[in-house]
Amino acid sequence: MKEELEKIREECQTFLALAKTGPEISDIRVRVLGRKGILTQLLKQLGTLPEDERKEIGQRANKIKEDLEARVEECLRRIQEQERAEALEREKIDVTLPGRRMILGRKHPLTQTLDEIIHIFSRLGFEVVEGPEVELDYYNFEALNIPKGHPAREMQATFFISEDVVLRTHTSPVQVRTMEKKRPPIRVICPGAVYRCDSDPTHSPMFHQVEGLLVDRGITFSDLKGVLSVFVHQMFGRGTQLRFRPSFFPFTEPSAEIDIECFICGGKGCGVCSNTGWLEILGSGMVDPAVYRFVGYDPEEVTGFAFGMGIERIAMLKYGINDIRLFFTNDLRFLKQF
Ligand SMILES: [Zn+2]
Repeated sequence: MKEELEKIREECQTFLALAKTGPEISDIRVRVLGRKGILTQLLKQLGTLPEDERKEIGQRANKIKEDLEARVEECLRRIQEQERAEALEREKIDVTLPGRRMILGRKHPLTQTLDEIIHIFSRLGFEVVEGPEVELDYYNFEALNIPKGHPAREMQATFFISEDVVLRTHTSPVQVRTMEKKRPPIRVICPGAVYRCDSDPTHSPMFHQVEGLLVDRGITFSDLKGVLSVFVHQMFGRGTQLRFRPSFFPFTEPSAEIDIECFICGGKGCGVCSNTGWLEILGSGMVDPAVYRFVGYDPEEVTGFAFGMGIERIAMLKYGINDIRLFFTNDLRFLKQF
């Protein structure tokens, strides 16, 4: 029995020396000192020994048990300390290292352009109104003096939802909706998305417009020229040359498009301005009396003007962007430039 005790002590010490983790040591403790451990089992046999041997071996066995228990505790403490030291090393923070820079988002160039347009017109007393993108044929065409079969419908390649419902091809229907709800004086701009079956470097099936409408007593073409000249000068710079060029829209009469002097060639003619020296930026005109009749205004009593522009086009001219599709590809290399 003495030899067995020595053997247990040696084995246990060897295992403890090899153990590297807390659970491994606990496992050794259970196997040797636990209730069913080999040392405990051996101690149970003490009773079978002769009395003189029993005392001596009993003392020796208890000594070994105490020793081993102390050794186990020590090993556990050592491993815990080691693990804590490793954890501290792992979680060490060098507060002198430079911080990580936060990536700040910024407004999309179209939003920036629209914000600027809204800012200019709001200072001129215009308020912002909005309308639906899925629109009745009536508001998109009919009430704007474009009856079924009118050739002007061909100018706007339309997405039809059904025979009477379209994706609006322009923001002009919001004019009609506003006039139905309010009596003059009216001073509104209507920004929003519009849709046309068209896709190339200068056309996108979805793009954005801002519509403007001013109706009151005694409004003349001079007011139109005044308001839009102020807009152009604030948007593109005080010295910008502009011209009003006669044009046609079914819902305005007379109508004019506004061109600004090409800032690439300074008016001499280049590829960007198709050698005209001018760049078209918006359409405008005095509201056609026929439109007033649809909303129950008396054309003898009130007059007004309307205008509309593509936000993408304004942004492309302002920032020198040559492909409309860049606005919608979410390429950070492009977006970060604004
Ligand atoms: Zn040019």
